[in-house]
Amino acid sequence: MPAIWWLGAGRTGLHAEDSLPFELLELSEREWRDLLSTDTYRVLRRERTEPAFSSPLDGVYRDGTYVCAGCFLPLFSSEHKYDSGTGWPSFWQPIDDRHIGTRRDFRLIIPRTEYHCARCGGHQGHVFDDGPEPTGQRWCNNGLALRFVPAGEALPALRTGVNG
Ligand SMILES: [Zn+2]
Repeated sequence: MPAIWWLGAGRTGLHAEDSLPFELLELSEREWRDLLSTDTYRVLRRERTEPAFSSPLDGVYRDGTYVCAGCFLPLFSSEHKYDSGTGWPSFWQPIDDRHIGTRRDFRLIIPRTEYHCARCGGHQGHVFDDGPEPTGQRWCNNGLALRFVPAGEALPALRTGVNG
């Protein structure tokens, strides 16, 4: 599998590497393991799903931005968050389509659509079509894969390597 397998996996399938509004972050699995907590590593790099109702972010509705816990790319806004009742932070759209890549996932009998951070490839969650208006989408995200930045606080600089 090529190291940058998620390229071109954006929702429209039209994104080429040179059209992305950010530099990709590619680290080895060893580097990710060293950077992340064990639980966060399992979600972001091994596509595990955290237990329902385990994330404090599920109940957060303050204004702010949700950035990728791996590379700090903004992925979701509080403007698009809602209570899906599932026990996972849920949104009806991402902050920017270009920041998300998707892939069909056949781990369950019924195919579902896995999505990930387009910059570092970190697994975030799955998108379903039973969400609220106006999109009808439910972006069901692992809280461990996100970091919440309250409105008024500066967003973290994008991670560029193992040291920052
Ligand atoms: Zn990322």
